[in-house]
Amino acid sequence: MCYNAYMDGSPISSQKDIEGFFLSLLSDLEEDDLRELAEAAEVRFLPPGTVICREGDEGDAVYAIVEGELEILQQLDDENERHLHYTGPGEFVGEMAILKQGARSATVRTSQPTTIIEIGRESFMKVLKRSPTLGFRLLVRLTDRLRDSDQQAIAELRRANEELTCALKQLARIDKTKTDFIQVSAHELRTPVASLLGYAQMLSDNSNVQENPQLQVLTEGIVTGTKRLHRVFNSILDVSRVMTDGLEIRRSPVSMAVIFDGVAVELGPALEERGLTLEQEGLGSLPIYSGDPDLLYKAFYQLVNNGIKYTPNGGRIKASGQVIESPDLGQCIEIVIEDTGIGIAPEDLDLIFAKFYRTGEVALHSSSTTKFKGGGPGLGLTIAQGTVLAHGGLIWAESPGYDEETCPGSRFVVQLPLNQPAMEASADSSPEGAR
Ligand code: ADP
Repeated sequence: MCYNAYMDGSPISSQKDIEGFFLSLLSDLEEDDLRELAEAAEVRFLPPGTVICREGDEGDAVYAIVEGELEILQQLDDENERHLHYTGPGEFVGEMAILKQGARSATVRTSQPTTIIEIGRESFMKVLKRSPTLGFRLLVRLTDRLRDSDQQAIAELRRANEELTCALKQLARIDKTKTDFIQVSAHELRTPVASLLGYAQMLSDNSNVQENPQLQVLTEGIVTGTKRLHRVFNSILDVSRVMTDGLEIRRSPVSMAVIFDGVAVELGPALEERGLTLEQEGLGSLPIYSGDPDLLYKAFYQLVNNGIKYTPNGGRIKASGQVIESPDLGQCIEIVIEDTGIGIAPEDLDLIFAKFYRTGEVALHSSSTTKFKGGGPGLGLTIAQGTVLAHGGLIWAESPGYDEETCPGSRFVVQLPLNQPAMEASADSSPEGAR
């Protein structure tokens, strides 16, 4: 049995009842149209949970709700659905798919015992084409629906945005706690390791040890291992220093040629061992730069050291400098460090600057920092980037790609602006380059 609660609570069963129902909705509808709609209509009483039409199905009928409630929803996957809204007596459902002659954009399901009037597509379209009243009614309904879904989308976006902001703050807090922990641990561990290194070196200089080949090997092992540990702790401290907001730079006059001479001397044995050449071009002609010599030395050391690590024996590394006019930084010093190594895949060019990021198959330890592909802890470029950014500069990597057979090479470009704040060091201080 069907009930017409929309009108007066009495059952809706005859064609007259249906005409009366449509008249209450569309009072200006012509008599012929009213009759045609009523003739094509079929009254259906549905229990809760009945799916009237499904998202993706072809639209073949329109439904007018007489009594009860329908839920409009979207299927996200097999198990999850997204509620869009509820609709009730006097509303039409399913007209969109008919108007655009396409598939249903949502699923419609009864949420309580519901009475609907179903009208087939053809009859509905016939009346719609000639009835401005029906057209107007649908237009109003579609506009309402658009406004509702706009408001719903905005509310959902706002909620998602709040959740993301909250998660971001939480992540930043966790990241800071982690950085603090790493920094404190590295600091605490570096001090005893430094004394260990001192004692180990004293031991290896001891005449008794030097006279005993077996003891000599053991002591060398201790010295090498302790040096490695010391280097790792230093790198971690450097990274946490450059990752901290407001990295303090102690500016003084810096000669890039002196910096690179220092790097060449320190890495000389490695270059020789690996049969690599380090060319320098134009560095001596660069103006004296106002920067932090200690940090800059470390940054360029990392870049040249990477050139050594990722270039097969017999290759070439070149460091060149010039003064350029950059669209972003104005007049600046540009230093390019390029190599004839294995290159970098395009998708890694930005990622390699993230801390602990490494590409490809590298030896995952820092036992030999200048061995071919002897990957370090993945901190070198983070230190270099942090330093360059703290100087107001830019750093990026360029490479045709990664290929260990053809070795296309990599280029690291560093730009440091020349219009820096006045040097803090006294006027008579001589240019510094190394630590
Ligand atoms: P790592 O200690 O692993 O060398 P870095 O931060 O210095 O850490 O470098 C990150 C990654 O970037 C390296 O593991 C390597 O994959 C890639 N990379 C850095 N420099 C070069 C280079 N000159 N040629 C090829 N790949 C490089």
